[in-house]
Amino acid sequence: MKNTKKSIYKIITAGGTGTGFKVVNQDFLITNYHVISGSKVVAVEDHNKNRFLAQVAMVNPEVDLAFLNVEDLKKVEGTIILDATKEVINTQKVYINGFPFGMPFTVTEGIVSSPNQPMQGRNYVQTDAAVNPGNSGGPMLNDEGYLVGVTTSKFTEADNVGFGIKHTDVIKQINDYNFDDIKYRVKCNSCDSFTTEESEFCSNCGNSINISVFEEFEKSHFANFTEEALTELGVNPILCRAGRDFWEFHQGSARVRIFTTNNNKYLFATSPLNNLPKSNLGELLTYINSNKVPPYQLGIYDNKIFISYRTHLSDIYSDRKDEVKKAIINLALKADELDDFFKDTYGCEMAMESKTNDKLVETVKQATEEKEEVIETKTDELKTTDESPMDKLKKLKQLFEMELITEADYNKKKEEILDTL
Ligand SMILES: [Zn+2]
Repeated sequence: MKNTKKSIYKIITAGGTGTGFKVVNQDFLITNYHVISGSKVVAVEDHNKNRFLAQVAMVNPEVDLAFLNVEDLKKVEGTIILDATKEVINTQKVYINGFPFGMPFTVTEGIVSSPNQPMQGRNYVQTDAAVNPGNSGGPMLNDEGYLVGVTTSKFTEADNVGFGIKHTDVIKQINDYNFDDIKYRVKCNSCDSFTTEESEFCSNCGNSINISVFEEFEKSHFANFTEEALTELGVNPILCRAGRDFWEFHQGSARVRIFTTNNNKYLFATSPLNNLPKSNLGELLTYINSNKVPPYQLGIYDNKIFISYRTHLSDIYSDRKDEVKKAIINLALKADELDDFFKDTYGCEMAMESKTNDKLVETVKQATEEKEEVIETKTDELKTTDESPMDKLKKLKQLFEMELITEADYNKKKEEILDTL
């Protein structure tokens, strides 16, 4: 199972996260249509957290499958094995691979409770392992690394049930797709032909096509606003997406996060800069308390120095919008400058999140991976929600780290979010 993990990717869109994978002898990544619906370009992340841009190359909404073209990954060999003759049988073990709630890679073990479960006119593989939106599009594998199905979270109302698109359906989609050029292609499920021009009908058989499959979803005003600022800063906003209305990226050495919070009342931008120094603490505190970098605040939490910016979300609709945009851009630049300043002037180490520490993070991560075991997820812990609880928890934790909410509030909210799991 170990080498299949390298062929499984996190998919990140403006609307959330899902999972995708690469099979033996195919260039493209496979995922669910509903994971990428509304987007023609998305970000994918490999097991080493490298991000790549992916073009949506084929969608089949009826089967709920999509193929993604990632130029940078074409040479990477897929390891997941397809075999149409491989039978899926009742009570056999399956492993559901993916990124539940956008969290780190997880394998959930289950058994096939029905290899042919009819749901809304199609047959699916049914398992006793729960799936959630983050798992969608990921592979269900047998213990030899063969594809059993593609996890789909379309019908996860019930506990103790997960569904997968049958591997034979997936193989058919792959066999039907034979193109050297990359275009956004919509597959007609009646006649198996492909349409590239926006149309309400299949050009071959006249079967109706939902026009929305050609459209890109409108992003929120906040998302557009932030992504414009990121573009001005010179970073690709698609690659920075970390969930709905949430972005993370490195500006030079500094890790910057932008998000909304308090029920979308405030826009936040923040960056952990340095650890507190072993000496010179008094001088440093004087510097921090003298508020040297308006409109930003310097703060300390958990022995770490943060720079942050907060403004009411309504400001991005007002005359102040250009000012706010500039403030976001400059926060990233300022963070990159200040972490060096604190290092040089007060001898503060860079924060763990900083780019210079990536090697260390990588080493720790790999050591952890070695110990990684198959996790059997309790089905009652996972339920479908709109925004991922992990996103909510991340945002909440940041607020607390910036001392913007009290510990009591933090714990209370955390409980509330965890209760929704
Ligand atoms: Zn047709």
